[in-house]
Amino acid sequence: MEILAKNVLKEGEQLLQQAEIADYKIDNMLLAEHFLGVTRNSLFLRPDLTVSEEKSQEYLEAVRRRCTKIPLQHITGVQEFMGLEFSVNEHVLIPRQDTEVLVEKVLSDIKNIPSVTVLDMCTGSGCIAISIAKLSDNAQVSAADISEKALQKAKENNQKNGTAVQLIHSDLFEKIEGTFDVIVSNPPYIRTAVIQELMEEVKDHDPWIALDGHEDGLDFYREITKEAKKHLNPEGKIYYEIGFDQGADVQKILEQNGFRDIHILKDLSGNDRVVYGGIK
Ligand code: GLN
Repeated sequence: MEILAKNVLKEGEQLLQQAEIADYKIDNMLLAEHFLGVTRNSLFLRPDLTVSEEKSQEYLEAVRRRCTKIPLQHITGVQEFMGLEFSVNEHVLIPRQDTEVLVEKVLSDIKNIPSVTVLDMCTGSGCIAISIAKLSDNAQVSAADISEKALQKAKENNQKNGTAVQLIHSDLFEKIEGTFDVIVSNPPYIRTAVIQELMEEVKDHDPWIALDGHEDGLDFYREITKEAKKHLNPEGKIYYEIGFDQGADVQKILEQNGFRDIHILKDLSGNDRVVYGGIK
């Protein structure tokens, strides 16, 4: 049996609103697009559009899951990042738009270098490494993560995007050999005590190890910075994503480890988001 799409969508929207999902209208349209193939545009052009009973049940089931605060991306299984599509699950941090500032900075800095080697430390879904590989034509990219399950996703994303990022199972630099022109990282940086205060979607569904930067949130910056020097070429640079209040602290960690020419960049909301510096 066929039913009117607009009625099904209305039901979904009401359920999401009642469950107090913050962006319920947006999430509803994204679920409708994913599960019914119905967009705002197609409904506008054809208000009498119908969908099968079976499909509408699938969509409403997805809506009900979203109502329990399961992130939208865990229901659809995908997240867009840098214009590319990444497959995600509960073993990887869902790529965040803020992280695009980090990727864009690296891409613009390496643009005029004929050939460049890049290491993405704590790669998770692989979104940083894979975007750099895909959106540049001069970068040889490697990426490391401690989680084998995350690396499985990164491998899938590498194939999905047709990139050849070398994936390395490693606890930080333990298994990393050689030196690179660029080290980039969006490590876990949330203070342990603050994780409990985050949205349910994040604290209950993003992997804890992708969030937890330990007591003061800075452990991974200390560990990575200490080792990074041994793995950077003489003109090499390190680029970090940071939390909005970590700019000064991470700058200090870099300075204490001999890094120079350190800069902080802001994200689109005006918060400090990226710190980078060189070893020369
Ligand atoms: N590098 C991945 C990202 O930026 C994962 C980061 C993490 O797990 N902390 O999304």
